[in-house]
Amino acid sequence: MPTTSQEPPQYVIGIDLGGTKTSAIAADFSGQILAEVTVPTPAASGGEAMLDTMGQVVDQLRHGVGAGPDAVGVGAAGVIDPSTGRVISASDSFTGWKGFSLGERLADLCGTPVVVENDVNAFLAGELAYGAARGSQSVLALALGTGVGGALAFDGQIFTGMHGAAGEIGHTPGYGSEPCTCGQSGHLESVASGLSIHRRYLQAGGTEPVASTAGIAQAARAGDPIAAQVFADAAAALAQAIVATANLVDLDRVVIGGGVLGAWDMIGPHLEQAMGSTGPISGFPVLIRPSRLGGHAAALGAAALAWQLISNTEHDQKKVQVAS
Ligand SMILES: [Zn+2]
Repeated sequence: MPTTSQEPPQYVIGIDLGGTKTSAIAADFSGQILAEVTVPTPAASGGEAMLDTMGQVVDQLRHGVGAGPDAVGVGAAGVIDPSTGRVISASDSFTGWKGFSLGERLADLCGTPVVVENDVNAFLAGELAYGAARGSQSVLALALGTGVGGALAFDGQIFTGMHGAAGEIGHTPGYGSEPCTCGQSGHLESVASGLSIHRRYLQAGGTEPVASTAGIAQAARAGDPIAAQVFADAAAALAQAIVATANLVDLDRVVIGGGVLGAWDMIGPHLEQAMGSTGPISGFPVLIRPSRLGGHAAALGAAALAWQLISNTEHDQKKVQVAS
């Protein structure tokens, strides 16, 4: 009787390292998720603790799939130097994170190639490979969560800029005079983030006992004019930011993700209306699309970047062989 030998699956691991939780997936080349695990992020315990956590989730997935991954990709909070995987800057909620050599340390720990990107860049990489940005030539991603994250990609490749901070539109001025989480004021984030929507609702005299953007959206749907106004303000600010970016780099698409998407019915129509009346100078419309990958976008994007890393490495090896 012939014996059948089962080839171990080829897969990569994508890790989404967020402020409160670390989600990791094992994914094949088509973006099919083979296994997944989510654990709390020990953000207050320092870089070594977060590295340990990532090592543990990689081990769990390795055991779950029954073979080792070909590479690991990470989408991590903070500004990341994509060439080294080092954390250049991070918010205060991450202790001992700034300066941490995440790429090098994780590669040593896992024994596989590792690529590290900023989490919003990873979100966009996921939408480019498997979601709402597929086929787009010039795209802006906006992640509307606690803050406003941004990312850019051209010809299917993430544009990181000189220091890994390209696309960080949340901290551009010109949106009023309210305080921003970064310490400055009048930034897009001070009007359009989930945190800002909540703060502005309470400051304007909002009375509903709401604890989240979803709660304020519920109030707006029920006819609360203050709730409706804070979403309209957020949409107007987003439209201004999108038109500015479209005029700068001739966008064909914007993909929007993050927790605020739960209130998309309160923001989307205002945004479409504002874009219709003050569209980009090109005269071509910019498609605005909500994320298609939802909570898996950054992990899938980290996986897509890991596949790219493998293919670039193989390409470089071929070049070396030809050269010798
Ligand atoms: Zn700011």
